[in-house]
Amino acid sequence: MKITISVLKADVGGLVGHSTMHPDIMKDAGSALEKKKDDGFLIDYRVLHCGDDLELIMTHTHGTDFEGIHQMCWDIFSDCADKAREIGLYGAGQDLLADAFAGNIKGMGPGVAEMEFEERPSEPILIFMADKTSPGAWNLPLFKIFADPMCNPGLILDPKIHDGFTFDVLDLKNNKNIKFNMPEDMYDSLVFIGSTEDYGIRAIYRKKDNEIAAVASTQRLAMMAGRYIGKDDPVMICRSQNGFPSVGEITEPFTHPHLVTGWMRGSHIGPIMPVSFEDAQCVRFDGPPRVICAGFQVKDGNLVGPVDMFDDPAFDNARQTANDVADYLRRHGPFEPHRLSLGDMEYTTLPIVMEKVKDRFKSID
Ligand SMILES: [Mg+2]
Repeated sequence: MKITISVLKADVGGLVGHSTMHPDIMKDAGSALEKKKDDGFLIDYRVLHCGDDLELIMTHTHGTDFEGIHQMCWDIFSDCADKAREIGLYGAGQDLLADAFAGNIKGMGPGVAEMEFEERPSEPILIFMADKTSPGAWNLPLFKIFADPMCNPGLILDPKIHDGFTFDVLDLKNNKNIKFNMPEDMYDSLVFIGSTEDYGIRAIYRKKDNEIAAVASTQRLAMMAGRYIGKDDPVMICRSQNGFPSVGEITEPFTHPHLVTGWMRGSHIGPIMPVSFEDAQCVRFDGPPRVICAGFQVKDGNLVGPVDMFDDPAFDNARQTANDVADYLRRHGPFEPHRLSLGDMEYTTLPIVMEKVKDRFKSID
């Protein structure tokens, strides 16, 4: 059976500040999706949160980019934003950039990752959700999972993935894409995907049959709004096992809390910390950036799970390293590279402050 997994997310309002999500918002989103499941429009769904982001995980048979699914999610996010205003939550509706739905939710604020595939007899999938960071945060782990045999021994050992994968890479600032075949295009690809503010991996396909392996949300709120209105807090979906990397090969890159952009005011570099669902609240300096991972078996479109994949003491060292790195970076205060470079601050409030003092610069010729 061909099924579609859609993960749509939005920051509809935070408790307290940008820390986490109010339980009533999740309850409302859950009952709205439950109705759609009863109607047969959805096969199954789950509602989670990572920090202040509401995450809607859905299975159905309507395919990707289906207007009805996007419309439904837009309505749920809008209703949840209204509820957030009523409760008095912070930044209510901040990710909803349009006044009314216009056909496809992409470009309207919320983040979207969707894939359609013929379900295998056993279909393990992993859904990653991050807060206080941007879509480029997935580039390094996706490279390690799908192109680096030092992380993924399956690339060497498993004849089903030995041919490698194709990376579909988006130029985030110019809205173009390019495809790289791994491993042969590896050096060329790293020129671009190493530049995480400019290029984001939006999908990965198994090279020998073009079967979808992973998708990531690549929306950029700042680009859409032309000013800073929160970070893009991305999501991604990875298929696992039997023709794809194993569960452990997919989670392994997160033992290294790599540096990502986001954190306080979307203006800082910090380590991304893998945490359990329970610890997905960003308090210290509004962070550090977090990632959670929900594992499911999909059967006839039904979601069996989630398993809270980072609720595992084996990730304690990564969390400790992330805290140590956070301490080290924080001691830089407002100095680069903890604070982003001016180019990456273009859509923040910094240019307004710079404008104020610009006439005080005198030519020294
Ligand atoms: Mg957020």
